Amino acid sequence: MTVTAETHPVLAAVPRLLLIGSEWTCGAGSATMSVTDPATARPIAEVVDAEAADGRSALAAAVAAAAEWSATAPRRRSDILRAAYDLILGRADDLATLITFEMGKPLAEARGEVSYAAEFFRWFSEEAVRIQGDCTRTPDGMTRTMVIRQPVGPCLLITPWNFPLAMGARKIAPAVAAGCPMILKPAPQTPLSSLALAAILQEAGLPPGVLNVLTTSRAGQVAEPLLRSGMIRKLSFTGSTAVGRKLLAQCGEAVVRTSMELGGNAPFIVFADADLEVAVECAMQAKMRNMGEACTAANRFFVDRSVAGEFARRLAAQMGTLTVGPGYEPASEVGPLIDEAARDKVAGLVGDAVTRGATVVVGGSAPDRPGFFYNPTVLMDVDPASALTSTEIFGPVAAIQSFGDEDDVVSLANDTPWGLVGYVCTQDIDRALDVSERLEVGMVGLNAGIVSNPSAPFGGIKQSGLGREGGRVGIDEFLEHKLISMPVRPPGVASANRGGLAQGARA
Ligand code: NAP
Repeated sequence: MTVTAETHPVLAAVPRLLLIGSEWTCGAGSATMSVTDPATARPIAEVVDAEAADGRSALAAAVAAAAEWSATAPRRRSDILRAAYDLILGRADDLATLITFEMGKPLAEARGEVSYAAEFFRWFSEEAVRIQGDCTRTPDGMTRTMVIRQPVGPCLLITPWNFPLAMGARKIAPAVAAGCPMILKPAPQTPLSSLALAAILQEAGLPPGVLNVLTTSRAGQVAEPLLRSGMIRKLSFTGSTAVGRKLLAQCGEAVVRTSMELGGNAPFIVFADADLEVAVECAMQAKMRNMGEACTAANRFFVDRSVAGEFARRLAAQMGTLTVGPGYEPASEVGPLIDEAARDKVAGLVGDAVTRGATVVVGGSAPDRPGFFYNPTVLMDVDPASALTSTEIFGPVAAIQSFGDEDDVVSLANDTPWGLVGYVCTQDIDRALDVSERLEVGMVGLNAGIVSNPSAPFGGIKQSGLGREGGRVGIDEFLEHKLISMPVRPPGVASANRGGLAQGARA
C-alpha cells in the first residue's frame, strides 16, 4: 500500500496548537504556517505561527510554574520521565512516521531516532534522584561549606529540524530532571514531533506550565524579548554556529547562561593500517546517517595516499547501490533533504568542487523527481580550497582528500574553526590514542561511525559549542551550585555568629 503524508492518521492525532500553561491554544493571533513533506514538496499540515505576545504568555506560564516545580520531589520528576520513556516507546511507530513525514529520513532511521530520544528520558529519570551536593570544611578549618545544586530556573530551548524529536528530548529530559520549567521553540520545518512529544509529557504527568511549546516562523521576534526579559535564566540552543553566535550576543547582554550545540566540520581520517572494510562501514554511518544532515556528519575525508583509491572505490560501490526515495516507502535508504535551498546548496558545493578538479566517483547530481533529493555522491582528489571543505555540506556527499603523514593530517583536520567530532580509522592503538588526543574536537569516533549516546557527554569545542548534553554532566547545564557558608564555632565560644564576626572581612 502506498502511504501518503497528507492522509495518514498519525498526522490527525497531533495537536496543531501552542501549548501554554495547561492550554492548547491558537495564541494571540490567527496566523498559521505550513509543514511540508520534503519528499513531495507538498504541505501536509498547518500549525499555529506564534508571535511575540505568545512568547510573553509562555514566559508567564513558565515563571508561574517555577517555584512549585523546583520544590517537587526528585522521585516524582523521575517517575514522570520514566513514564514518558514508556509512552514514547509504546508509540514508537507513530512517532517515527511523523518524523519521516516532516523531516524526510527513512523510517528505519526515524525509529532509531525515537529510541535515541526515549533513552534521554530513561537516562535522566535515573539522574533526577542523584542530584548531589558537597559538604566540607575550608582548608583553614574555620568554615563549614555546603554546596547545594538548585534548578537554574525558566529555560528557553531552541532546536533544529534535523532530529525533530531527539534534539528536544536531549534538552527537555535534563531540564525536567533538574526541576526547571521551560519554553520549547522547535524549528518551523518540523514542529509536529515536538507537539506530539509535549502531548506525551502531559500524559506522563508533567504539571501545567513546566513545558510550553511555541511553534513559529518568527524566531527572532519571539525569542529575543524572552532572552532580554531577565526572567529566562538559561538558553539551550542547538543549531548553526551563525545563529548561535547571534544568540550568544543577546545572552551576553542579558547575562543569560547558555548551552550551545552548534555546527561541525568533522574530519574522517583513514590511516594506511586501517581495516578498510571497517573504515568503509564507519564512513557509511558517519556520512549517510540522516542523509548527511547531521552536525556529526563526516564532512572532510582524509585518506592515506596509499589506500585512497581503494577506499574511494569501495565507498562508492556502497553509496551507489543505495535506494533513493521517500522515507516512508519501505525500500528507501536515502530520503530527501529538508528543502529546496538545502538541495541547491549541496548541488552548488559539488559543482564548485568539480570545477576545482575533483573527480566524481559516483553520484554528483539530483535525481529527476519531485521533492528535494540528492544522489549519494563520492568525490575524489578534492582541492582543499573547495567550498565544501570549509562549509557544512549537510548532504550525502563524501569529499575525499589524500594525505602523506600523521602530522600533516592532524594539522589539516584541526585547520577549521569548528571542533565537534572527528573520526579515526587505524589498527595501531598508539596512533589511535595519540591522534585522538591531538584532534581539537569534543568527541572522537575510533573505528566508529557514530558517537552519540545519551549516557555520554555530547558537545563540541571551538565554534562548535559550549557545554555538554547527555551523560552524567548533562544535568549540570540546568543546575546552579549554591554555596552555604557557616563559621565553625571556636572552642569555648557560645555563638557561631560571633566567631564569624571575629574572623573579620574575607570577601
Ligand atoms: P539554524 O538555522 O541555526 O536554526 C536552529 C533553530 O534556531 C531553529 O529553530 C531556528 O528557527 C532558530 N533560530 C534561527 N534564528 C533565530 C533567532 N534569531 N532567534 C532565535 N531562534 C532562531 O539551524 P538549522 O538549519 O535548523 O539546523 C542545522 C544546524 O544545526 C547545523 O549547523 C547543524 O550542525 C546544527 N546542529 C548541531 C547539533 C549539535 O548537537 N551540535 C545537532 C543538530 C544540528 P528558524 O528556522 O525559524 O529561524
